[in-house]
Amino acid sequence: MKIDVIALFPEIIFPALQVGILSRAQDADVLTVNVHSLRDFTTDRHKSVDDYPYGGEAGMILKPEPLFRAVRTLNPQLTARVIYLTPQGTPFNQSIAEALSLESHLILICGRYKGIDERVREKLITDEISIGDYVLSGGEIPALVLIDAIGRVLPRALGDYESAQSDSFSQELLDCPHYTRPAEFEGMQIPEILLSGHHEKIDRWRYEQSLKRTFERRPDLLEKIELGDEERAYLNSLEKAEEA
Ligand code: SAM
Repeated sequence: MKIDVIALFPEIIFPALQVGILSRAQDADVLTVNVHSLRDFTTDRHKSVDDYPYGGEAGMILKPEPLFRAVRTLNPQLTARVIYLTPQGTPFNQSIAEALSLESHLILICGRYKGIDERVREKLITDEISIGDYVLSGGEIPALVLIDAIGRVLPRALGDYESAQSDSFSQELLDCPHYTRPAEFEGMQIPEILLSGHHEKIDRWRYEQSLKRTFERRPDLLEKIELGDEERAYLNSLEKAEEA
């Protein structure tokens, strides 16, 4: 997969690409991330990327010409998904990350100031994505959020691909609790079952813990999945315990 990022401040993004899963994915040629400075697509002496808004209001707007030049240079065949990071976009989640991980080429556009000229949106953008209901000063951190979430679900990117599949939201459930050594720490013991060596029972325990966590913290997620009789009975028992 190739991801091109167009940003005014690429230096925010570079360091995060050099560590952990993202670095491994690039070394293994599973992922190529190119971060481009928007200024490289200007043609004037001052490398201007922004200008005052028409109609007179506070703030600056990213000009259309450098963004059009950048996208047309990076996407001559018009095959890429061109994603604008914006608080007005579709809220980002794990299913979007997984769907995007199947694409071969993404272009991420990072806004700054008041945002981008609306004509860029109209002509070039295929998707608009928000990372949450708050406003950041630029799209570089949101772009990194997407790259990280997508990068870690690319097969072969993780040391252990299965590990991502049991993470929160992968199966619409929150992840179960985890423990590592020592088995006893400051008087706190790990659950006995994890020492039993009985893998089937451990899997069942993990699944129930995931259900319990989701029931306690994000019951809305449970409405999205089909539950079997056993799961429903388990959730009923949790409900009864809560009422008691
Ligand atoms: N005037 C814009 C609005 O209210 O929709 C906000 C502009 S914001 C200060 C500057 C840039 O940061 C945006 O163009 C966008 O690229 C990025 N940005 C800020 N918050 C974001 C969010 N929650 N999700 C994705 N991108 C965001």
